[in-house]
Amino acid sequence: MQDDRYHDPELRQVCASGNAPENDPATEACRDPATALSRDPATALSRDPATALSRDPGTGHPRPPRREFKARGSFVERCPGCNLPVLNCLCPYAATAESEARVWLLTHSMEHLKPTNTGRLIRDVLPDTEVFTWYRTTPDERLLALLEDECFAPFVVFPDDQPDYADRVVGIDAVAEAKAAGRTPVYLLLDGTWRQARRIFRKSPYLDALPVLPLRTERLTRYRLRKPASAAHLCTAEVAAELLRQGGDADAAQALDDYFDAFNDSYAASRRFERIEAPTAAMRRLLARKG
Ligand SMILES: [Zn+2]
Repeated sequence: MQDDRYHDPELRQVCASGNAPENDPATEACRDPATALSRDPATALSRDPATALSRDPGTGHPRPPRREFKARGSFVERCPGCNLPVLNCLCPYAATAESEARVWLLTHSMEHLKPTNTGRLIRDVLPDTEVFTWYRTTPDERLLALLEDECFAPFVVFPDDQPDYADRVVGIDAVAEAKAAGRTPVYLLLDGTWRQARRIFRKSPYLDALPVLPLRTERLTRYRLRKPASAAHLCTAEVAAELLRQGGDADAAQALDDYFDAFNDSYAASRRFERIEAPTAAMRRLLARKG
């Protein structure tokens, strides 16, 4: 393999080329196997907000203990509406858009807990966005049903750099073909760290028949909340925006891009304990959308 992404546990993969590593101390702690194993499982489970599901829903076996999840800024007062620090709340800039294509997120269970996850921004802008939690042994029944629905043409967004599924790889023109055939194109994004996304791709037989759509872009990431290993590694919302743009949903792409920008700037400023006094250009465009 030529790409260090495959070997670096710090990298956050969202799909396509969209990787960015974790740099939140909490998320690093979450995946430190040495410290995780040294903890008392009972204590870890009782404290972990992720362990509402402390048993695997498929087997009933207890899940391995996890470290307590504390995102950076856990003690900062957060807005209940947008979950950002109240210092720079995102709520005034919430905007929705229409799109021909849809986005479904197959999200690793740990990713849901991170306030820096950008997948949720997609659902804010595109209310038809579906979010499924991935468990290896128990596929989401609703996802399975939707995958069978002929109204939709789902594409798994994933890099095309492995030979064993080369016959499934399609280009963005397949999105237009799906529309022409009267089907709704769906970008199915695997939302998690790179390792999690790769595991989802490899361990979900119900994805095996779907076409694989790699994101091809020269765009560089603007995400500042997790340090990317490479500027070419886009985060989830950026990947969705770029696919929407390439697939012909320019307005939705712009709205999502702007909303992501507003999120990025607001969150980063709050981490520096700075209030954004004058709305940025992206924020002004979002306000203008509301008329
Ligand atoms: Zn808010």
